[in-house]
Order: sequence, then C-alpha cells, then structure tokens
Amino acid sequence: MISLARNFARDLARSFGRGGRPLRIGYGRIFHEACAASPIATTEADFHRMHHLEGAALAEAAGLRGTELKSFFPHAELTGFTQAARVAGGVEAVPLSSSMAVPSGPLTRQCFEWLLDRLLTNLREAGRLDGVYLALHGSMEVHDLGEAPEAVILRRVREVIGPEVKLAASFDLHGNMTPAIVDALDVLVAYRTNPHWDLAPTGFRAGTRLIRLLRAHVRPTHAWRKLPLVLGGGTTINFVAPMRGVFTRMRAMERDPRVLTTSLFMVHPFTSSTELGWSVHVTTDGDEALAARLVDELADLAWKAAKTPIPQLFDIDSAIRRVETSTWRKLGPVTLVDTDDIVGAGAPGGSTQILKALIERRSTLTALVPIHDPSLFSRLADVPLGTTLDVVVAGTPGYDQPPVSLRARVTARSDSELGARVLLRVGNLHVAISKDPPLPIHPRYWKELGVVVRKADLMVQKNFFHYRIFHVAVSFEHVPVASRGATNLQRVRDLPTRVPSRPRVELADWREGDRMLRA
Ligand SMILES: [Zn+2]
Repeated sequence: MISLARNFARDLARSFGRGGRPLRIGYGRIFHEACAASPIATTEADFHRMHHLEGAALAEAAGLRGTELKSFFPHAELTGFTQAARVAGGVEAVPLSSSMAVPSGPLTRQCFEWLLDRLLTNLREAGRLDGVYLALHGSMEVHDLGEAPEAVILRRVREVIGPEVKLAASFDLHGNMTPAIVDALDVLVAYRTNPHWDLAPTGFRAGTRLIRLLRAHVRPTHAWRKLPLVLGGGTTINFVAPMRGVFTRMRAMERDPRVLTTSLFMVHPFTSSTELGWSVHVTTDGDEALAARLVDELADLAWKAAKTPIPQLFDIDSAIRRVETSTWRKLGPVTLVDTDDIVGAGAPGGSTQILKALIERRSTLTALVPIHDPSLFSRLADVPLGTTLDVVVAGTPGYDQPPVSLRARVTARSDSELGARVLLRVGNLHVAISKDPPLPIHPRYWKELGVVVRKADLMVQKNFFHYRIFHVAVSFEHVPVASRGATNLQRVRDLPTRVPSRPRVELADWREGDRMLRA
C-alpha cells in the first residue's frame, strides 16, 4: 500500500511539476538577422513596426486562434510551444515578451538594451518558473557589443532565473553557434527547412523536450561540432540535393528513441563575426558516446555535402545580354536575382547598379527594377501622376551606390502591405522607388502599380528563393547576378576568419578547425 502511494506520488510528480503542482514555463522571443554591410541600423522602431508583444497580448497571439507574426506566419515558434504545453497537460505557459524585426543592419546598443529590458522585466514579474523557452535567431549583431548577442541574452536570463531553472532555445538554421550559446542551454533545437516554414513545429519540439526534461522523463546529453566552413552546399535548400541527404539522415537518427534532437546550422555569412562557421548538434537521452558518434557522422555528411559550390554568378552586362537572347522571355520575364542586395538577408535593396547598366546600354527591354531610395520617394510624394521630371536615383543613403540621372514620368503609386512606392517610367523601363527596403516577391507588387509582370522581359528580385513560389507560372529563367552590395558573396569568401575556413582556404578535414572554434 505504501509503495502504491509512493508510485502514485511519483507518477503525479512526473505528469505535473515538482511537488504535484503544474509546471510553469516562461516563453519569449528576441529575433533578428543582421547584415553587417547594410548602412541601415536596426532600432526599437523597427521592432515596433514588425512585431513586439508582451504579456496577455502575446498569450493571445500565441494561441491557436491568434496570429503570432502578422502578415508573415500566423503560427510560429511560440504558438508551437504553447501547443506543446497544452498537449502535455499540467503546464502553465507564461508569456514574457516577443520581438522581431526584418533583417537589416546591426542593432543599436540602445535597441538591444530595450529588448533585454522588456524580456528581463517580464521574467522578473513572472513569479516562480520551472523553465524558460526562447525563440532566437543565432545571427544577430549589435554595434560594438564584441560578442554574440544571443550569448548575452542567455547569460542575462540565467542571472534572473538562477541555476536550477531549465533553459531551452530554438534557432534559425542560419544561426552561428558559439560555446557561450550552446553551453548555456539545456535544450537546443533549430529549424529543419530552408526556406523556413517549420517555425511552429520547431517551437513544439523545443517545448516537448523541455517538458520531458522537467518531468525527469529524459536526461539530455549534448554533443556539437563547429565546422571551419562559411559557404557551400550549393543553394542549401533542405529538400534539394546535396543537403537533402543530410536532413533525411537527421530525421532517421531521431527515430531512435535514445536520440532527442539533431540540428544542422548552415551559417548566415553576412555578420562581422570572425568566428563564423556551420555547426551540428545532437542531444541523446543520457548516452554521451552515442551523441558523440552521431554528431561526428553528421559533421562528416555536412562537410561532404558542402563541397558542392554555390551557383555561378553573372556580372550585370552578361546577365542582361543573356536576357536579350533568351527564348524564355517570350513566356515571361527572365529574373535577375541581385545576389548582392538580398533584402531577406538584411541588405537594404537600394542598389542602383542594374538600373545604371540598363540605362547605359540604352536597353529596350521591358524591365522591372525595384530600388530603395527614401529621399527620392519623399520628393515624389506630392508630384501629380503623369508629370515628367528630371530625377537622380541614388539608392539607400550611405550605401555608396552610383547615382543614376533619369528623365522619367511618374505613372503610379501604391501604399499597401507590400510597402509604399512610386513608379517611374523611362521608355520600357519601370522603376519602383520604395520608402522601405523592397520585397517584390509577389507579382502583386507590380500589379498594384498597374504593371503586368508576365509582359515584361526582365524582372529584378532581391530575394534568393521565396519569389519563385509566386512566379512559378510567370518566370522561367533565373540568373544570379553579382553587383556590389551588402550581401556580396565574394566579400564573404575573402573574409578573414580567426580559424582558416572553407571556401577561402581549401581544407581536407573539419576536425582541427572544430577544436579551435570550440576552444
Ligand atoms: Zn534563416
């Protein structure tokens, strides 16, 4: 009878928190991807503009009936987490603060202090917690901070919660892992998809693992490796070779009940960290040898897959020549992917290089070119449609782009969720001057300006992949172009990292670099 009561008490403790009361787990987010070469500093206003919620408002947004990230993802990591808590039962999910801004230049110190203050204040006011879950990126950057912001966030959170409370975090798979980040965590998971659509499942996985740890169902044992590797893997899309093989193997590993998590990080290469590198991470249930064996296997697989070089880039003139001779443009515009000015990776979208080349060539192609130029945008704000005037397109202030002089007609303007913009026309050339960094990933971007994308010969995109989903029946040839901007891959190749890394240095093995990077 006594042992029965003892068993019952143990089961109760396992299904609830310590001492039979529900578990209390705080959850929040600080999320930003930085591009060190962007001249636009990220400030508090950028987070307010995109996403900042606290307390009850956050709880509502992160519920199944809420909208977590407006006009982006209705359900993201924190909704996934609250669902894990609901499914587990006996867990109170306690909202802290959640902040996200579009990828851009590094954060100002003031902005970072504000983000920390909001998170830590909510954490102090949350009362006693058993665990904390945070959705982080892993490639943030803060002006003059001197270390990874995520490491600072985790350290400051630990100072508030003390050594006993368990800490879990999820990351974008473009995160740059460091010992200070990995060692601070009891549970670590990452996105599995690139482009990313598995935000909610990632939060759910973090939540279930954290709850199982708190109920003493599992004993997470970590192993990780950091590869001296900055670029590679072709287009690094998870469902296309060569990376598909690696992700398939990771899922197979996780079918073993002893394996709790596997993660692969293909690093975002545009921060100014000198410790850049891909990494792999494995958690097992108390089996150190298994974790070490699997993480080495994963490191070998990723190292080999990354030998696939990134696609060949064209210079602007050869790219335009290619459009001129392309037969595909009879069916829809050939896309020039401006790989130097990728807005989704934090570039400002104010490169004038392709526009300049089209003007100098006196091109007769029907071309669609989006350019971020807030000064010109405000100058054109009150100009009546139909007016012809002389303008200078200079791009993003401080971006050091060549100014392009045009005699153009103002033909349309639009202010929608796709951004505020004015359309200039010079012959067959359509230039959308935008107030904010442009993301014309949907044909609606041009349609709202009265332009039919299908009828164009050439379209400029500031995005690696997402636009293809919306242009699958519109654009049939895609030409990656190197110009001179914030997401220049040649600059990444030449970047002096602390540890010799691929592709700048050809290395036979990752082990030496791993030792140095994790030291
Ligand atoms: Zn990413």
